[in-house]
Amino acid sequence: MAPLHAASVRADLAAAGLEAHVYTIPAGEASKTWQTVLPLYGRLLADGFDRTSTVLALGGGVVGDLAGFVAATYMRGIAFVQVPTSLLAMVDASVGGKVGVDHPQAKNLIGAFKQPALVVADTRFLRTLPARERRCGLAEVVKHGLIGAPHILTWLESGRWSWPALIREAIAVKKAVVEDDPFERGRRAVLNLGHTFAHALEVVSNYTLPHGEAVAVGLVLAARLAVRVGLADEPLAARVEALLHTLGLPVRLSADPAAVWQAMQGDKKKARGRLRFVLPRAVGDVIVTDAVPPEVVRTVLAEILCPERPPPEA
Ligand code: MG
Repeated sequence: MAPLHAASVRADLAAAGLEAHVYTIPAGEASKTWQTVLPLYGRLLADGFDRTSTVLALGGGVVGDLAGFVAATYMRGIAFVQVPTSLLAMVDASVGGKVGVDHPQAKNLIGAFKQPALVVADTRFLRTLPARERRCGLAEVVKHGLIGAPHILTWLESGRWSWPALIREAIAVKKAVVEDDPFERGRRAVLNLGHTFAHALEVVSNYTLPHGEAVAVGLVLAARLAVRVGLADEPLAARVEALLHTLGLPVRLSADPAAVWQAMQGDKKKARGRLRFVLPRAVGDVIVTDAVPPEVVRTVLAEILCPERPPPEA
């Protein structure tokens, strides 16, 4: 995001009497590696960064993860501030303290928990965001609403909402969950609502499917699964689907259900060899369960995913 926003952020910092050095990395997940991180330590050292310095991540999720990892490890950890520029990063990645880099064999394999001292979500950044990326961020907003803020769904359904309020409320859901379980030993798993499906859909698409779109279909699958196992009523699934569709997000996908099922077996959040699902019982009420019969999951996959059908127009 340096080309777009670094100069103005640097000017703001200078106005506050703070000196800033700017380091840029190429956009995209491919940058989230050791090869990008290692030279950054040398540059911080050369520029005189010490224990009193702060790393500020200006960009989307990749920059936040990577800069946070540098902040967590440089001199055993220095202060860290997140300035997310994408909606996805504002409502999700920038909050919660998960930082790290990818390993050739697994995403986010090398990392740490490093809570930011501050998260600045400036909605002016959203003006430069492509519409498709904004929609992707809304998928995580809907997820947070389902987990713990029914009013978020009501707002989105009514069409009467503002970015600052929406972002603040979405962050509040995640913040409450993370504060309850900062190191992901229990309750924090609810934040994976829709994500066991979403990650498998991303793998099967060879990561051509944007995360937010995978999450949208994942939420539909989770809601349908909840209905199938008797946890939720049909109107809940219909409501989730209708809202996501209204927001311009996909609710069906052209993908091979068998391949997606196969990809789900590699989920790193499996517990004792069983797939764990986060399922909604109602809006604002989700549970984590590993008591879902595999054949029911496969039925739901076959219902929502279709090899022949093209994805609906976004
Ligand atoms: Mg996500």
